[in-house]
Amino acid sequence: MTLANETTADPIRLSDYRKPAWTVATVELDVDLGIDASEIAARLTLHRDPAQASPLRLNGEGLELLSISVDGQPLAPADYRYDGSTLEIGAARDGSVLETRVRVRPAANTALEGLYLSGPRETGFLLTQCEAEGFRHITFFPDRPDVLARFTVTLKADRERFPVLLAGGNPAGAGELPDGRHWARFVDPHPKPSYLFALVAGRLENIERDYVTGDGRKLKLVIWSEANVIDRCHYALDALERSMRWDERTYGRHYDLDVFHVVATHDFNMGAMENKGLNIFNAKYLLADPDSSTDDEYRAVEAVVAHEYFHNWTGNRVTCRDWFQLSLKEGLTVFREQQFSAEMNSPSLKRIEDVSLLRRAQFPEDAGPLAHPVRPQEYREINNFYTATVYEKGSELVRMLAGRLGTSGFRRGMDLYFERHDGQAATIEDFLSALGDANDIDLTTYLAWYAQSGTPRLHAKGLYDAHKREYTLTLSQQTHATAGQPHKQPLPIPVKLSLFGYDGKALPLHLDGHAAETEKVVVVDQATQSFVFRNVASAPVPSLLRGFSAPVVLECDYTPAELALLVTHDIDGFNRWEAGQQLATLAFENLRSTGDTAACSAWCEALSALFHNPAIDDALLADLMTPPGEIEFADRQSEVDPAKIHAQRQALQHRLAQHLGATALLDRYQALAAHTSQALDADSQARRRLKRRVLELLALLDADQAHALAAHQYQNAPGMTDRLAALGVLVRDRAPQAAAALADFRQRYADNPLALDKWFSVQAQIPGEPALATVMALENDASFTLKNPNRARALLGAFASTNPSGFHRVDGQGYRLLAERLAQLDALNPQIAARLATAFNGWQRLEPIRREAARAALKELAQREGLSPNLSEIVANVLQ
Ligand code: ZN
Repeated sequence: MTLANETTADPIRLSDYRKPAWTVATVELDVDLGIDASEIAARLTLHRDPAQASPLRLNGEGLELLSISVDGQPLAPADYRYDGSTLEIGAARDGSVLETRVRVRPAANTALEGLYLSGPRETGFLLTQCEAEGFRHITFFPDRPDVLARFTVTLKADRERFPVLLAGGNPAGAGELPDGRHWARFVDPHPKPSYLFALVAGRLENIERDYVTGDGRKLKLVIWSEANVIDRCHYALDALERSMRWDERTYGRHYDLDVFHVVATHDFNMGAMENKGLNIFNAKYLLADPDSSTDDEYRAVEAVVAHEYFHNWTGNRVTCRDWFQLSLKEGLTVFREQQFSAEMNSPSLKRIEDVSLLRRAQFPEDAGPLAHPVRPQEYREINNFYTATVYEKGSELVRMLAGRLGTSGFRRGMDLYFERHDGQAATIEDFLSALGDANDIDLTTYLAWYAQSGTPRLHAKGLYDAHKREYTLTLSQQTHATAGQPHKQPLPIPVKLSLFGYDGKALPLHLDGHAAETEKVVVVDQATQSFVFRNVASAPVPSLLRGFSAPVVLECDYTPAELALLVTHDIDGFNRWEAGQQLATLAFENLRSTGDTAACSAWCEALSALFHNPAIDDALLADLMTPPGEIEFADRQSEVDPAKIHAQRQALQHRLAQHLGATALLDRYQALAAHTSQALDADSQARRRLKRRVLELLALLDADQAHALAAHQYQNAPGMTDRLAALGVLVRDRAPQAAAALADFRQRYADNPLALDKWFSVQAQIPGEPALATVMALENDASFTLKNPNRARALLGAFASTNPSGFHRVDGQGYRLLAERLAQLDALNPQIAARLATAFNGWQRLEPIRREAARAALKELAQREGLSPNLSEIVANVLQ
C-alpha cells in the first residue's frame, strides 16, 4: 500500500555492508557546556582505506557548523558540502587532521538523543545518549559501530552551575579557568565506537566504593544522582559489586578502567545505557528503597545494573560490526544477565518470569506484521529494532547454544570469542565460529535461527506399543509465513524431555542404546522426526521442552489428567509451572468452546493439592495460581474479542477461587499477613507475592471482605510491594475504598516521580469500559506530561499495551485517543512515539468491529503530515 507521506528512502540492507572507507584513529573533543547552547570542537585523525575511492563523508545531524579546517587550513564553503545530515569533504587524505566546531542546543532537545537537558533548566543537568546514532547530533563523525577510535574528552563549564563534569575513560586532569569556569579531562585507553561515548555535567551527588578486581586493579565505583535521591542508590551499588564479582567468577572477565561511573536520570528513552566507563540509567532501573519500590522493581534494578555492566565485555570490548548484529551484544548480554539473576535469586522463578515476558512481548511481535529475524536483513530506522525479538529471542538463541555446549564448553567458546575479537567489531558468524571452534563442533546450522522470523510450532505425538514396550515420540515443526518470508526452513530445535510413569516417577530413557538417564535432549532438525524409547513398562506422560529448551510453541494433545500429573509430580519448578499453564489454557479453551469443565476441574484439583502442600515454595505457588495473561490467550485466537477474553479469564480464576474456598483463602491470607518483615530475602518476597495472589482470588469470591482487607493492608503496609498490591485490588475492582487510597498515594508520593508513575499505571489498568475516562481524566492531572518518557509510558503505555479490555473498546475510542497522542508525542520524541505505537500490533486478528476501528485510526494517523521516520515506519508496517 502507498501512504501519502510514506518514507521513500531505500532501507539499509545487511547485504550492502562495506568496510568503512575512512576510519578515525584518535578523537579529541573539547566541549564547552551551556544549557541553551553548547559548543563542541572536535579534532579527528583520519585514515583512508586505500582500496576504496570514496571522498570523506561524515554524519552530522542538524549541526550548526561554526568552523572547519583540514590539516590546519580553514576550508572555504566550496571545499565541503553539508546537507544537514552528511558532511562531504574533498580535501581530506590519509592521515589528515580534521577540525570542526559546532553548536548544539541541549535545552531544546526533546528527543533525548544526543546532548540534552534532564530536569528543569535552572536545576537540571546535561547528559548525552548516543546509541544508536546520537553521536552525529553532537559532532561530525563516521557514526557507525565499526569505527573504533581513542577518545580524549575535555569538558569546560561554569563551576557553580556545573560542579560535576564526567566523561567515559580515566580522569586525566582538571583545573580552574577564568570567570568562574573549570575544566576536566578524560582519556579512554580502549578504542571504542562513537555510540559508547558519553558525558554528564551538572549538580550531582555521589556514593562510592573501592573495588579491587580479581586481577588486582584498584578502582572506584561511583553512582551519581541528584541530591534528593542519592540515598536510594545503595542497592544499585551493591548489585554492581555482585555483578562484577559474578563476571569474574563465571567468565573470567575483569573491569578495565580506573573508575566506573553510573548516573541516574529521570529523562531517558530506554532502560539504561552501557557507555564505556559511564553507564547512564533511567532512574526507574537504578533507584530503590522499600517505601517506593516493589520487590519486582528491586529485582529489575539488580538485573539492569548487571546487564549494563556485562556489556563492558559483551558489547564494548567486543562490539558489533553493524546494527544488524545488534543481538550479538544484546541477546548475549540478556542471556548473561539471566544466568546471573538466576544465581542471585530463584532459578525457576527467573525462568518463569523470562518465559512469560517472551510470550507476552516477543511471540505477538513474531506473529504479526512487525515480525523480523533476530538478525534483520534490512531496516529503515534502527531505533525501531531494539525489540523483544533482538533482546529476548536473541537470548533464547544463546541459551540453546550454551545448552548444546554445556557449561565448560560454553565457557571455552566464550574465552575464544574474547581472545579472537577483543577490540574488534564482530558479527554473529564470528560468535558462532568461536563457540564452535573451541569445541570442535559446527554450529552454523544455528545461523538459520538468526535469519528466520516467526515462532516455530512444535507438534508432539506419542504412541505406546504395549506389546513391544516401546514408546514412539513423533515431533514435527512448522513455522507460519511472516511478512517478507513466505517459506520457512526447519530449524535445529533442542527438546529436553523426560517421561513420567502414571505413578509420577520419571522413567529411565532407553534411546539408541544409550545409558538410562531420566532427562535427555533430542534435537529436531527435520520437518518430522520420530524417537523410539525402548523398555518402557507402561504408557508414559512426556514432559517436553523442559526448562523451555527452545523458543517454540509446543502443541501436544495432552489429556487434563496427564497435565495434572505433571503439575503434581514434576520436581522442577519451571516445568511444574509450565504444565499448570498448559492445563489452565486447556481449561480456558474448553470452557469457552464447548463448556467442558473437565480440564478446569483437573486444574483446580491439582492446584488445590499444591495449595495445601507445605513443601511448595510460596512464590512458585503464586505463579502456579496465575493463569496465562489476556495477551497470551489472545495470541492463540483468530478473532479476538478482548472484553470476552477478560471476562472468561476472570471466570476461570473465579472457579479456582471457589474450589479453594473463601475460608481457606482467608486463613492463608491471614497467616501470610502475620509476617510483617519487609526484608528482601527470597522467603519474604515469596510471602508477599502469594499474599497478593490470595487477596486477588478472595476478591473474586467475597469482594466486600477482600476490599476491607485491602484497605487495611494499604494503610498498614510496611513497604511498596504490599501497598501497591492492595491499591491494585481496590482500584481494579473500583472498590468504595479506592478513592481514599488513591488520594493518599497521590499526596504521599507527590515528590517521587517513580512512585507517582505507579499511581498513573494502576489506574490505566482498570479493566473494561471505565479505563478510557480514567485515562483522559489523568491526562489533566498537573503532574502529567508527554515530555517525560516514563510518565507517558506509565499512563498511555500501561493503558494501550497492558490493558487489552480497556484499550480495545468496541467504539474505537481507545484507538483514537492513542493515535492522537502518538501524533503529539511524535513532535517531541519520535522514539517514544514509535515504541508506544506498537500497541496496535495484532489489530488484524481483532473481531471485525474493533478491527475496522483500529484500521481507521491507524490510517488516519498514517496520513498526517510530518510524522517522523520512526513513527511512520511502525505505522506503515503495522498497517500492512
Ligand atoms: Zn543491552
